[in-house]
Amino acid sequence: SKALVWLRRDLRMEDHAALYHALKRHEQVYVAFVFDTDILDSLSDKHDRRVEFIWESVSELKDSLRKSGGDLLVRYGKALEEIPQLAQQLEVAAVYANRDYEPLAIARDEQVAQALLAADQTLHLFKDQVLFEQDEVLTQTGKPYGVFTPYKRAHLAKLNPFYLKAYPVQKYLSSLAKISKEPMLSLESLGFSRTNLKTMRLPTGIAGAQQLFNDFLQRIEDYDEARNYPAIKGVSYLSVHLRFGTISIRQLAHAAWQLSLAGNAGAATWLSELIWRDFYFQVCYHRPDLQLAGRAYRLEYDRLQFPNNRDWFAAWCEGRTGFPIVDAAMRQLNQTGYMHNRLRMVVASFLVKDLLIDWRWGEQYFAEKLIDFDFAANNGGWQWAASTGCDAQPYFRIFNPQSQSEKFDAHGKFIRKYVPELAALSDNVIHAPWAGTVSKKDQLVSMPEVDYPMPVVNHAVQRQEALGIYKNNVKQK
Ligand code: FAD
Repeated sequence: SKALVWLRRDLRMEDHAALYHALKRHEQVYVAFVFDTDILDSLSDKHDRRVEFIWESVSELKDSLRKSGGDLLVRYGKALEEIPQLAQQLEVAAVYANRDYEPLAIARDEQVAQALLAADQTLHLFKDQVLFEQDEVLTQTGKPYGVFTPYKRAHLAKLNPFYLKAYPVQKYLSSLAKISKEPMLSLESLGFSRTNLKTMRLPTGIAGAQQLFNDFLQRIEDYDEARNYPAIKGVSYLSVHLRFGTISIRQLAHAAWQLSLAGNAGAATWLSELIWRDFYFQVCYHRPDLQLAGRAYRLEYDRLQFPNNRDWFAAWCEGRTGFPIVDAAMRQLNQTGYMHNRLRMVVASFLVKDLLIDWRWGEQYFAEKLIDFDFAANNGGWQWAASTGCDAQPYFRIFNPQSQSEKFDAHGKFIRKYVPELAALSDNVIHAPWAGTVSKKDQLVSMPEVDYPMPVVNHAVQRQEALGIYKNNVKQK
């Protein structure tokens, strides 16, 4: 019989659950990817690094499938309609895909399943993008965890080679359907154009992911310490590959798990980060209102009264708040689509607790700009920083941007890279260039020799304001 494998955020052909099951059960297997207009049309900027990343990865995958005797059918349109149409045209018995955990994606899959059913075809979904699904790691009373540490403990207790085993797709590739070759759609035909992706040190596709992972394995032992410093190459930079599935989570977790059992502390910490990823997916699944209604995880914080100053928000987005570490981070995001985790925490805290702007505004800006944007992790990160989330930072813990800068970018290396107008300042001054020029009356005065804005706010004052907003909210409950 025949089957169709529908790729979404799993752009690889190795260790792939849906492809494995389809190849094993059917004699002729087609593989398809849809550039979904329901998603693409919502992107206002037609220079989008993510679309280019996907396009590059899909092109590479198409070549690989061809070399293995098949092809990748690439379509442009509404996935909701394209997949059932393709399934009918190819007369397959079933469609295979890997499961998604976001409410919007679940709704899409339900609609596709209904349309297929009308033609007597079935949609089969598999676990692939996580180590454990929403109902595999639950509390003793069968409820989802809302706190990370016990979740991680239960996750690690359950993790064993069975869950980390790769799906050996290679040996079944002879079941790929032999079809006449179709040309690849161009990026321009999708309404998008090239970005600066090629100039960045971010290799795309399956080959790119392996290259980054091999490089990271040489440094994984130092991860525990090095991961905190944005100017150091301490992290894996694999987030975009995990987002689009150009590498398998099982492959990464297996390596980290084995190394951690052998006493590698860096690998153990990195495995924890992969478990955070699973954690936020299950939160997202169990709380669909986070995505569908933009609610706070802790409902008592749903209506915090933020003043939302639009000029300050624009300054934050454009990296001209006058706080060098914040501006450097935001410029990194704007120029590359990436931001180091430490800085995501710093700029998120700064937006909410210094600029007093609703965390949802920042969440949305990240959603537009991040190359690794993923609803579950992004929402989790923002709600953590805003103290509205599960297992969040308590509201009275407010990062001081200057001390964060002095601690994590002590020599100003990261600041100098992204805020070059400050490059000539000494290490002592670069974190708070205004400090040396503050007048006797404690008023901020300008720095005539440097073309850099004065800080938009005074941290100490804003900190008190923020505490007031959170305390008022608690009182009003
Ligand atoms: P590494 O340190 O090498 O970590 C390895 C992998 O673990 C990451 O690729 C990621 O898949 C996972 N991971 C690490 N930290 C987290 C975390 N806190 N939550 C969930 N997964 C994690 N991550 C995203 O993938 N997409 C987002 O949209 C996103 N938005 C964020 C927004 C905020 C405000 C914050 C504070 C964090 C956000 N993160 C997000 C989490 C984290 O910052 C990134 O995953 C990480 O910086 C990616 O770089 P890396 O691959 O080099 O990470």
